[in-house]
Formats: sequence, structure tokens, C-alpha cells
Amino acid sequence: MMVTPHCPACGSVVFFESLECPACSTELGFHRASGEFAEARPEGVLLTDPRGGEPRLWRPCSNRAWRCNWLAPDGEASAQCLSCRLTRRRPDNDDTLSLEKLAVVAADKRRLLMQLIDLGLPITPYYEQEGGLAFDLVSSLSNGERVIIGHANGVITIDLAESLDAYRERLRVRLGEPYRTVLGHFRHEIGHYYQSILLDTDELWAECRALFGDERASYQDALKRHYDVGAPAGWIDEYISDYATMHPWEDFAETFAHYLHITGTLSTAANSGVLLQAERIAGFDHGDVLPRASYRDATFDEVLSDWTWLSLMFNRVNRSMGLKDLYPFGIVAPVARKLAFVHRIVVRAGAARAASSQPG
Ligand SMILES: [Zn+2]
Ligand SMILES: [Zn+2]
Repeated sequence: MMVTPHCPACGSVVFFESLECPACSTELGFHRASGEFAEARPEGVLLTDPRGGEPRLWRPCSNRAWRCNWLAPDGEASAQCLSCRLTRRRPDNDDTLSLEKLAVVAADKRRLLMQLIDLGLPITPYYEQEGGLAFDLVSSLSNGERVIIGHANGVITIDLAESLDAYRERLRVRLGEPYRTVLGHFRHEIGHYYQSILLDTDELWAECRALFGDERASYQDALKRHYDVGAPAGWIDEYISDYATMHPWEDFAETFAHYLHITGTLSTAANSGVLLQAERIAGFDHGDVLPRASYRDATFDEVLSDWTWLSLMFNRVNRSMGLKDLYPFGIVAPVARKLAFVHRIVVRAGAARAASSQPG
């Protein structure tokens, strides 16, 4: 279970992106196997996997100069951490403008992967298996390269230009989206990746089709219709976003992304010690809201109840800073049913993985 990130030397709270402790300047290295920071030493540190096995030597990732703060296990074919190794394509070494953007985007990728590990979702790298997970992180602003954000056969493509606020915000406004972030792109595309992996029985596919529609419908036709006439009237009563209306594949990916938004933010709140006192919330009579570090044993109704009140609180906090809502979405009953399905298959995958897990 993920804990509040803190300095291994002095205990100060740090961010997941931190390279050194702001209080004592200890160099920080994230040890993905335990979900905690250790000291990053060039000669390596011996760390134990909480699931067992002999301690291993972990060294700073070879991309530390590009602000990667993960550790990489010694004795592997690569001196890069798991997150960096999953990057299949990246800008050329002399394209420093794009590499600067890559450093920003890679931090979002690490946050994504940390959450997938925390949820117990399987991560099979492309270099171990055909069709395994890979990331092509390339920029549409370099060499006239045409980059389309998407997923195909395990490979997730992200446009590094999206790390530029002006670029991303212009697209967000043009597309009428309430929310557009690089982390959101990662969470959406990984939804496409997991749909085919987690739905491994005919029964699950049948359930999925009943909720999201038949994904065998022509994608090209759906794409054309979406950009010609837009989302159907009244979509907000059935979908989490405008884009989700385009095709059942997109509805699933959007829903999956929201599941990660919700559980990721709940986990951060839980690990930060957040507690909402019922007596201070007008009209609330369900008892205090104390988010859990893990919702593995919870029903989706319980997830949603906590999220409803916590997201309301976060939205009010943002407004008190003159910012837009943290979570500018409403979850209607049909969307809650889709999210409940995602919750079920994610918990199921996590349990299957825990049962067969090998340290490493
Ligand atoms: Zn410290
Ligand atoms: Zn790395």
C-alpha cells in the first residue's frame, strides 16, 4: 500500500517527483517494489522487496539527469528504471527541446505506473512479450512529425507538445473539454490497453457490451460522425464525457481514466490523513468521511460515496484559490454502473496477481 512519500533520512514529507529532500538534501530514489523512497547512491543501496526474497542492489536510474527519481535494480540488461525502460521511442539525443518536455511527461508516466502497481494491475513490458506495454513519447513539434495520441497493440503514444500549457490549453478550449492533462491522457490510453487484458472471458465481454455498447461497431464511422455532428443531445445523462459518446472503446477508456482519477485522488487524500467531519457538512448524515488507502475490499457504492464528498471539498478548495474545479464532472447513475464494472475487474485482476505474485 502506498504511503505518504517521505525522506528516508529525516522523515520530511516530499513529493513523488522530488529528487532531493527539501529539509536535509538527501538524494531521493523511489523504490517501486516497496512504494517508498530510499537514499539514491551511485554505488547503490540494498533494498528488500516487501513480498520477500533476497535484498537487491538498487541504483539511481540512468535518466536521473533528466529528473527521473526512480531506482533501477542492479544486474538487469538496462540501467534504466522500469518506467524509463517502458519508453520504446523518444526524441533523439540532440533534440534537447523535446527531451526537456520528455522529462515533464515522464513524471506523469511514473505517477501512472505507480498507481497501476498499487492497484496490482499486471504490467508486462514490450521487451518481454509481443504486444506488451510500451510508450512512444514523441513530439509533434519536432521535425514535422505527425503524432496522434493513442493506443495500438500495447503501444501508447503521447505527444510531448501536450506538456506545453499554451498548446494543451488551446486544444482543450477548441474541443470544449473541462479537463485536459498529460496524466489524463495516460490514464485514458492505459484504459484501452487494459480493456483487452482484463476482459478475459466471454461473460465479461457480454457484460461490458451491455454497459458500454458493442465495440465491434465501425470505429471509422463513429469517428466521422463524432467530428461531423458531435455528441448526441442528452449525452450527459449517460456518459462521463463528450468524447466517451464517440464509440464503445472510448467510453470504456474514458470510464477507466475516471476510475484512476478517483482512486488515485482518494489514495492521496487517505495518505495525507484527510478526514471530513460530518457535523460540519450541512445535509450530511452518513458519518465522517475517512478515505481508505485501498478500496480493494469496498463496494463501488462506498468508493463513490467517499468520492462525492471529497471531490466536493476539493472543488470548493480550488474555487477558494480562484481555480477551476479539481473534478469538473458529475457522475450520473449509468456512469456509476460503468465505473462499478471497472472497479470489479480491477479488483479481480489485483487479487489474481497477489495470489501468483513473485518478488522482483
Ligand atoms: Zn530529509
Ligand atoms: Zn527512470
